[in-house]
Amino acid sequence: MDERPAIVAEGLTKRFGAIHALAGVDLEAPAGTVLGLLGPNGAGKTTMVRILATLLAPDAGRAWVAGHDVTSQAATVRRLMGLSGQYAAVDGYLTGRENLRMIGRLSRLGRAAVRRADELLELFELTAAGDRTVRTYSGGMRRRLDVAASLVAAPAVLFLDEPTTGLDPRGRFGLWRLLEELTGQGATLLLTTQYLEEADRLADRIVVLDAGRVVAAGSAEELKAQVGGDRLELHADPGADPAALANALAGLGSGAPVVDPETGQVVLPVTDGPAILPEVAARLAATGLRVTDLAVRRPSLDDVFLTLTGQPAGRSA
Ligand code: ATP
Repeated sequence: MDERPAIVAEGLTKRFGAIHALAGVDLEAPAGTVLGLLGPNGAGKTTMVRILATLLAPDAGRAWVAGHDVTSQAATVRRLMGLSGQYAAVDGYLTGRENLRMIGRLSRLGRAAVRRADELLELFELTAAGDRTVRTYSGGMRRRLDVAASLVAAPAVLFLDEPTTGLDPRGRFGLWRLLEELTGQGATLLLTTQYLEEADRLADRIVVLDAGRVVAAGSAEELKAQVGGDRLELHADPGADPAALANALAGLGSGAPVVDPETGQVVLPVTDGPAILPEVAARLAATGLRVTDLAVRRPSLDDVFLTLTGQPAGRSA
């Protein structure tokens, strides 16, 4: 195998009629890392996954998964990857155990398919439900089985298209833990998500797509830094003049302090909130101004998303 990162895309382009689903996308994920693919509805995330997973041919550009070209070496790529998401890999009329065993046999695991099914049921906390037909599973159980199914052949690279959509917070949290275990064992994950919290927690790097183009890439921290630094939020003591507080802080931040006329809150944009706190305290002490509340707020991925794509994250449908 060559030395390429586990997932590489170069200039991927795909059109559906007049729609440019992908308009020249580059990305890469080194082995053992998680790449989060974010973007609003219709940004091209699923198209990207389908091309990388050899389900769809690009119009132009190239991609490699586990060192193999997704177009000319599609069969090899398929052997080395797992795919989970909106692809209905599991059969509702079979039990969870039967589904996993069948996939194991199709993946040529032979007798090992039985043990692998048991292992995965255990890992995904489905042992007790293993002999029930999947039709009777809750949404969360089905999702877990779906991800388990993509892991039967212990793939080096795993594509997860919105793995936790529709899960309750507990189910989501459980699946995150499992995915972290997998990457701990060296698997490479590409995950699309509408949940910024998910990308923040799991992804080493994030690529934000919008209308088929990469609009930002980097770690969650880097993306937050691109949007701007921290905000220092202060409330003056009742009776104290917020404008005097704002004056006292002048020149300290990366911009001018702003007073919210309704709440009296003073907001100071700063590059590094915690670093500036001692100087803020010194100014307050020097002027005798008192505050009832002082907080450093760091930008969230939500702020990033809104700034980059002009719309909040989350499904509108
Ligand atoms: P979502 O978050 O809604 O799943 P997405 O980012 O996954 O969106 P894609 O499903 O990749 O977006 O779609 C990108 C664009 O390509 C959309 O405008 C979509 O309507 C269009 N598209 C995708 N597949 C097809 C297809 N088979 N035929 C026609 N248009 C398509």
